[in-house]
Amino acid sequence: MTTTVAAYAAPSSKAPLERTVIERRAVGEHDVLIDIQFAGICHSDIHQAREGWGEAIFPMVPGHEIAGIVTEVGSAVTRFKVGDRAGVGCMVDSCGACEPCKAGQEQHCVEGNVQTYNGIGKDGEPTYGGYSQKVVVTEGFAVRIPDALSLDVAAPLLCAGITTYSPLKHWGTGPGKKVAIVGLGGLGHMGVKIAHALGAEVTVLSQTLRKKDDGLKLGADHYYATSDPATFQELAGTFDVILSTVSAPLDFGAYLGLLKTGGALVNVGAPEEPIALNLFSLLGGSKVLAGSMIGGIAETQEMLDFCAEHGIGAEIELIEASQINEAYERVLNSDVRYRFVIDTATI
Ligand SMILES: [Zn+2]
Ligand SMILES: [Zn+2]
Repeated sequence: MTTTVAAYAAPSSKAPLERTVIERRAVGEHDVLIDIQFAGICHSDIHQAREGWGEAIFPMVPGHEIAGIVTEVGSAVTRFKVGDRAGVGCMVDSCGACEPCKAGQEQHCVEGNVQTYNGIGKDGEPTYGGYSQKVVVTEGFAVRIPDALSLDVAAPLLCAGITTYSPLKHWGTGPGKKVAIVGLGGLGHMGVKIAHALGAEVTVLSQTLRKKDDGLKLGADHYYATSDPATFQELAGTFDVILSTVSAPLDFGAYLGLLKTGGALVNVGAPEEPIALNLFSLLGGSKVLAGSMIGGIAETQEMLDFCAEHGIGAEIELIEASQINEAYERVLNSDVRYRFVIDTATI
């Protein structure tokens, strides 16, 4: 039996989101049904709802920062029981057999992972995301949300948390390392908290000093304005790792100049346009320009456990579903501190 569920959807590209109903598949033997309580609004929801990244599937129910409670489990489910706190991030399935999948990197599945929304599930049906009251997902793509984390501030960890945790860990963030976070938005503020908790000396590089007080409170040791050319002179050769979280095109050459020899500039932002880069900026100092995309399921669980241990949740503005369109405009104007989270009971 499918379940009819209230949701907020974009009926077509660039159209405002509106209330609707969708069908969730019957709970299969390996599935869990999650009663969604909170869903974060990620910048990529807007990119996709407005086809900024290319052709998309409509109607679209965005949302890949999902936190809720398990209310039904399939007969073969072993990792969850009714009443468990559970989260779903950016993907809901993968082939499970390829090299990346076997290595716990389901996000890089060679068959393509099944995205939580704007994707096609193994049943051939479009996937619908977290701006809805329930979701059915195979248990392998649900993670546990530790009791120490409130569900509302945990929801954004499912995308913003893992998107920053995975590259920070991979590139060696820890005690004795100098790490810069570019941009203090939804991703950036998580990057600051996580890099600080990992023990690094953290610097925020933001366009202006407008959010300096916030940045220092979140755990940054230093805060610089990138609109000031002196910043790039003063900090030349400083960092082991720079994590860029901005979705606007950036002068990567200038940021590479801030790295130590062998340092890495890791980009997790997804601008809609290609960038130009003079490759000489990589040669001197043997620098690395890298990318990273979310993280695997096991690492997502590791990130949630780490955040619970260190008392890290997202800084959120809780909204009702009727405020989603207004929230989108505010995200586009960088006017959110630091993540909108939808109370899905209001859908
Ligand atoms: Zn996201
Ligand atoms: Zn695979």
